[in-house]
Formats: sequence, C-alpha cells, structure tokens
Amino acid sequence: MLADSAALRAAIIATALGMNAAGINRGKSGNVSARIDGGFVITPSGLPYADTTPDDIVAMDETGTASGTRKPSSEWRFHRDIYADRPEVRAIVHAHSPFATSLACLDRGIPAFHYMIAVAGGDDIRCAPYATFGTQALSDHALRALDGRRACLLAHHGMIACGESLGGALALAVEVETLAEMYWRALQIGEPRVLGDEEMREVLAKFATYGAARAS
Ligand SMILES: [Zn+2]
Repeated sequence: MLADSAALRAAIIATALGMNAAGINRGKSGNVSARIDGGFVITPSGLPYADTTPDDIVAMDETGTASGTRKPSSEWRFHRDIYADRPEVRAIVHAHSPFATSLACLDRGIPAFHYMIAVAGGDDIRCAPYATFGTQALSDHALRALDGRRACLLAHHGMIACGESLGGALALAVEVETLAEMYWRALQIGEPRVLGDEEMREVLAKFATYGAARAS
C-alpha cells in the first residue's frame, strides 16, 4: 500500500490537471483521490487545480476524518465508501464530463452499444439515481451502480471512474467519456443495436485474458 507522500500528492494534482487537458473536466468541478495506508488523500474543496500544491491535498482516515489545513472535496464520502467496499481500487477520478453528464441528465446509463463498454467491467455502465452532491445517499447509490463495475454515471451530476492507479482511473474516465460521446452521436441518427449477452460474454472473456497478460 502507498504511504502518503509529496510525490503521491503531486501525482493527484497532475491527474486533476490531466482531466482538464483531456477535456473531461472544465474549471474545478471534479475531484481525484488515491488510497494510502489507513485512508486516502483527496483534492481540496474550492481551489483551482493550477493553484493547488501538495500541502493543499487533504489526507482522510477510513472514517472520513480529515487532517491538514484545507477542507476535502465535498464528495469525499463516496471516495471513502468506494475504498472501504472495493479493496482492489487504488485511485478514483470524478468528473462532470460533458457527454457522460448529458446522458446522466436523462437518467440514462450506457448499454453495450459498443464492445468497449467492457472496459468498465461488465455489459453496461449504470447510471446511479440522483441524490444531492456530498450526501451519504449519493454515495450509497454510487456504490450500488458500481457493483461489478469500475465506472458509473451519476444522474444529473457526472461520472466516477476507479482504477488500480491514478493513471488507470484517469484513462478509464476518458474511455467512459468517449463511449458516452459515441453513444450520444449514434442516438442523433437512431437507436443503436445493443450487443447481446453471448456477444458481450466473448468480449468480457477476451478482456479478462488481455488484462491478465498485461499484468504478468
Ligand atoms: Zn461532482
């Protein structure tokens, strides 16, 4: 497990800036965290990423108690709860990316209209029901939508992507936004056919092997 360090905090800031560079975030609406021994470190509330220094990153323990001078992102609850529920998750990226959020504003998840949906771990990317930002209810909804998945949309809000590293979580967030954009574009012309269970089983099996090959 990673210990809290200036290098990890700098990597969180770089990932947050990377969201904006990748076009999945504008301004300061998302947040980024990474698991550490006994808790996690997360971007602070209300500070532009370009002005954020490693000292501004907030460390929180497993109960959600913060240390340091800054207040944590208002969304710290779902970060805390995802780390508690999903031992394999080491980093979380949350963004209000335009296409994923447009679908989420229609209470729509992303079905298997494209095989790459499997990158999120299953045959769809669910949309969690709406709850006020920062609440325990939102965290509870998000955890259910993430069951068996590494990403979900949040109705009338945005998206969450989880990874085994900060780079992995950011890459998945970009992939989810790309899928959301393609789905949105396809919906302008018609209703795309959704791949069937058998077709998606094959893809998921290939992804499992591919992941194992990469990890070895
Ligand atoms: Zn948000």
